[in-house]
Amino acid sequence: MHLETPIEYLKGVGPARARLLQEELGVQTFWDLLHHFPFRYVDRSEFQTIRGIVDENTLVQLRVRLDSVKEIPMKRGSRLEAVVSDDTGSLRLVWFKGVRYIAPKLVNGRNYLLFGKPNRFKGRWSMNHPEFQVIEPGTELKAGSIVPVYPSTEKLGAKGLDSKGLTRLMKELLKAVLPHLDEDLPSQVLEDEKLMGRMMAFKEIHFPKDLMEMKKAKYRLKFEELFFLQLSLLETKVLRIEKSPGIIFEHVGDRFNEFYANHLPFDLTNAQKRVMKEIRKDLGSGKQMNRLLQGDVGSGKTIIALLTMLIGIDNGCQAAIMAPTEILATQHHRSMEELLHGTGVRCALLTGSTPKAQRKTLHQALEYGELHILIGTHALLEDKVKFKDLGVVIIDEQHRFGVAQRAKLWKKNTRPPHVLVMTATPIPRTLAMTFYGDLDTSRIDELPPGRKPVQTVHRNDAHRIRVFGFLEDQIERGRQVYVVYPLIEESKKMDGELKDLMDGFESLSRRFPSPKYQIGILHGKMKPEDKDYEMMRFAKGDTHIMVSTTVIEVGVNVPNASVMVIESSERFGLSQLHQLRGRVGRGSDQSYCILMSGPKLSADARTRLHTMVETNDGFQIAEVDLRLRGAGDIMGTRQSGDVELKLADLVNDGPILQRARDTALRIIQEDPKLQSSQHKALVPRLASLMQKQNRWGKIS
Ligand code: ADP
Ligand code: MG
Repeated sequence: MHLETPIEYLKGVGPARARLLQEELGVQTFWDLLHHFPFRYVDRSEFQTIRGIVDENTLVQLRVRLDSVKEIPMKRGSRLEAVVSDDTGSLRLVWFKGVRYIAPKLVNGRNYLLFGKPNRFKGRWSMNHPEFQVIEPGTELKAGSIVPVYPSTEKLGAKGLDSKGLTRLMKELLKAVLPHLDEDLPSQVLEDEKLMGRMMAFKEIHFPKDLMEMKKAKYRLKFEELFFLQLSLLETKVLRIEKSPGIIFEHVGDRFNEFYANHLPFDLTNAQKRVMKEIRKDLGSGKQMNRLLQGDVGSGKTIIALLTMLIGIDNGCQAAIMAPTEILATQHHRSMEELLHGTGVRCALLTGSTPKAQRKTLHQALEYGELHILIGTHALLEDKVKFKDLGVVIIDEQHRFGVAQRAKLWKKNTRPPHVLVMTATPIPRTLAMTFYGDLDTSRIDELPPGRKPVQTVHRNDAHRIRVFGFLEDQIERGRQVYVVYPLIEESKKMDGELKDLMDGFESLSRRFPSPKYQIGILHGKMKPEDKDYEMMRFAKGDTHIMVSTTVIEVGVNVPNASVMVIESSERFGLSQLHQLRGRVGRGSDQSYCILMSGPKLSADARTRLHTMVETNDGFQIAEVDLRLRGAGDIMGTRQSGDVELKLADLVNDGPILQRARDTALRIIQEDPKLQSSQHKALVPRLASLMQKQNRWGKIS
């Protein structure tokens, strides 16, 4: 029995139900149904009593008899109310939805197993929308009779495919497929990882003997899922390296050495040194570098970018930096010019607002190889931009670039350039392993010496006068201040959000009147040259306060700024808050971050702000963010759609993932083509997975 057999052919399905299964659950084949796992199990031998109910937040399982049921008309539709009882008391049940589907199942005098959350209503316990199961007369509820509960829908229920109906199908399915289910993990792996066999795992996850066995089954199937995913990522990497050998940068030459000896403005931190070693190894390896560099804001990624580019230039190539915004590109350009002063290395800036005439000379210089480094925004991707020999590409803040865009940059050379992707948004380990699993990663996990951690506090409007007083004091001491307003989507709802910003600007202007105080303003609707002008004034210290939207979020570097006030901070995500806070604390002075919020906060918002107050560690913040938002939201739907996990989850299954990756890595290292007799069996599943994904392309 082939697992790809259409579900229609399973006994008890047929064309109509098959259509429904596909529409409602996306189940098309035997394989799909086999992977439709219970979301819960009912141990029918364990239940509480009605009198034993003590609080509203604990789920309880009860064994009850139905005393009465009635449908009560409401303004729209109707609700269903039932009274059930056991030997200790009675309980009211209410359904507002699905009344027509539930009602026929409730029969006076029958026994039911109920599962749900009790709530207190008019001095009595009641339960809304409980799950329930009929206890057939004569069936013993013996210990260990564990029953799966499957996700279903109202439509499926109406056609007899509620959890119980699905359970029946599942029994048929297992009967048909289990005998033909081959083990797909090497026996060595089963042994090393102490994994349950595959056939047993599917049996036990659907119909567990007991909960211990169910857990082992689940572990095994999660491992399998993550293992094949990791194997596909690592195999992608092997293939990529095979297809595109990298330009070998054999030597570190004059440019690099001269810079390192005479122009490096500080000693590298140990973390920076380690990362440089990793990069140099890549560049000399004959394989194309595809490395993700993670480092918190202010950890010193810029110098790494420069040193990497210098090695490329020493080997006769050109280099490019691509940044997501004009401000950032400009800033990169400025810091590169500063760092490269007197070295003879020529770099230029290309953005959407570079004048035409200037563009032309720039294009030429680039093609003739007179220009060593080109820094810019998406403008770099235009076809007109041609390099003589592009050897190194640095991509800053990769979250904002799509894969396709990056691939375009890649194609600017006949030989694929080395790629270093830099991100200041630390990615939780499990996500990095999954979404960038085919990249090498480096982490700068150490800040340059002498930094004082930013002090963070949470305040609300009642404290505003004191906050303003604090700002005044800081400005008196020669410091500068950012005040940031939320602007979640630059394009949407622009006007309302802009109004907040303008109102804030006005009230600050009243409190800090000109000419004594200078206040700048920055938002996405301004012309690039106006933005630049404002940013420049702030960078030079001409403005004391910069009122802005999140356009200053990324990469902006003004070491004298020591206070970051974030208005409506409850509306920002954690990583954004962390990014914003990273704008201060870049000089030697003590810096502060003040999170302003309204008085009412959701639980999540409270956790976010609390986390910000508690820690400055971007990696730790990223882990909390993952717990709050889940993997899909963090990586964006496009990417999370690429990695479809049926059972494992990236929030809770980190340890399994790590073991699965280690195992996959060991196998790929030993036997990259999976040719040994132990590994041959991995190939079909791997091939179909890679074909399905077909996503990593050549660049990440
Ligand atoms: P990132 O891009 O990672 O946010 P930057 O490269 O902009 O950080 O560096 C932040 C600041 O720290 C810059 O002013 C830079 O000159 C300085 N810096 C970087 N590395 C060191 C170091 N090893 N020692 C002292 N200062 C450093
Ligand atoms: Mg930076």
